[in-house]
Amino acid sequence: MEKTTFIKTIKELERVSRMLEPDSEQRSAMVDTVLSYSETLLENLKDAPAFRLSGDNSLELYKYLFSEGPRPIEDVLAILNNCVDSSGVNPISGGNMGYIPGGPIYPSALGDFLAAVSNRYSGHFYGSPGAVRLENMLLRWMAGMIGYPKQAAGNLTSGGSIANLIAIVTARESYALKSRDYHRSVVYLTEQAHHSIHKGLLTAGLQDAVIHLVPTDDKYRMLVSELESAILQDERNGLHPWLVVANAGTTNSGAVDPLADVAAVADQNKVWYHIDGAYGAFFALTEIGKKVLDGMGESDSLVLDPHKGLFLPYGTGAVLVKNARALKDAFKFHAPYAQDTAHFEEELSPSDLSPELSRHFRGLRLWLPLMLVGKKPFAAALEEKLLLAQYFHQRMAELDGFIVGPKPDLSIVIFRYNPSRGDINTFNQKLIQAIQEDGRIFLSSTTIKGEFFIRMAILSIRTHLDDIDNAVEIIKSEATSIKQS
Ligand SMILES: *Cc1c(COP(=O)(O)O)cnc(C)c1O
Repeated sequence: MEKTTFIKTIKELERVSRMLEPDSEQRSAMVDTVLSYSETLLENLKDAPAFRLSGDNSLELYKYLFSEGPRPIEDVLAILNNCVDSSGVNPISGGNMGYIPGGPIYPSALGDFLAAVSNRYSGHFYGSPGAVRLENMLLRWMAGMIGYPKQAAGNLTSGGSIANLIAIVTARESYALKSRDYHRSVVYLTEQAHHSIHKGLLTAGLQDAVIHLVPTDDKYRMLVSELESAILQDERNGLHPWLVVANAGTTNSGAVDPLADVAAVADQNKVWYHIDGAYGAFFALTEIGKKVLDGMGESDSLVLDPHKGLFLPYGTGAVLVKNARALKDAFKFHAPYAQDTAHFEEELSPSDLSPELSRHFRGLRLWLPLMLVGKKPFAAALEEKLLLAQYFHQRMAELDGFIVGPKPDLSIVIFRYNPSRGDINTFNQKLIQAIQEDGRIFLSSTTIKGEFFIRMAILSIRTHLDDIDNAVEIIKSEATSIKQS
């Protein structure tokens, strides 16, 4: 190409590519429109369903193929509203009490916005000392909360599943397990363990490891005497007890294993002790929770999920490892092109402690709200949820025909209706279906030891006393209509 044409081509490409960079006036107009859209979502929450099963508008997305040029923002947001924001679970509703709800708290959204605008590189201290210090500060705060020493290390992940995976890989490397050892290595957990533990083992290549299911008591908590005898029995049989996973709040029913007792057995038998606190660990910010969760600090590794227990939008989990060296050794690699970064070791870098390299600056969405509102409202919200669960458990126990599960350790209550005639499981399947079709609240169901239960999981930031009273009425009236039909 001749030089002048060459330059002309570059200039023309620049002109078009600059459409990706709106100027100040355009930015401000875009922000206004987005803000007004998000305000409508929040302001209409009171009347919005918590769940919309039918009317799947999302297929319409496929009609809007990407064009070569722009579309007006109003049109694009209308598509978003119709195709995405109006079906399925409404996670921002106070009526969302299915699975494990959470947030999001609004300042987190602003943290995400700022992180995306500044795009600080939080992977390595060299890239952004401030971003890395900010994240490590959050991790040290969490470590202090659960009772780990200052020297513990950790990583903010995309969620609890990846955090569990990181802990499993750390335990594997710390015990120097090689593939020839896997079929002899034993993992102890209960049937209540979250499936992300099994998925983590599989992802870590440990599908041949022996899973030893430890029996639970009538409150679905690990029987520590059984754990102890299982370990001794496996040792006698020439196996290698390697890892025990306890729950700081099961997803099914919120049950907390006897964490301190498990610690004693793990310690005595030199087994890596991991606690899955993705649902429950942040309740340690409350006085009630601290007692229930006693012993968390005695584990080797622990997972928490700020996008559950700290009401953040999806996309933030956390793993903590007591022995920082173990976490560092499991993930440290060196790339020749990153040689300039090698001397900057003042703070541990997230990319040295996880499989990720470039990553979302996900600490900002937690740091900002903590700085803006302080710790107290988080603790208050968590204590409110604990008390709401006790209140709901009481109210359901008083209702005719309903059977409630154990008094909640944390904020999940399981219950079912006992029809005097017909199959109890079938009745409750109908009941959960009716509640979901109604959609004003969203509950989910589970099966524990062969019994079908409906779960009330209270952890949405917007669930308050009125929502619980409302839920009781809905549950009662749906059960009555099924009984009469
Ligand atoms: C939610 C949950 C997980 C998985 O966490 P994600 O953030 O969804 O990946 C793991 N363990 C328990 C107990 C959970 O409740």
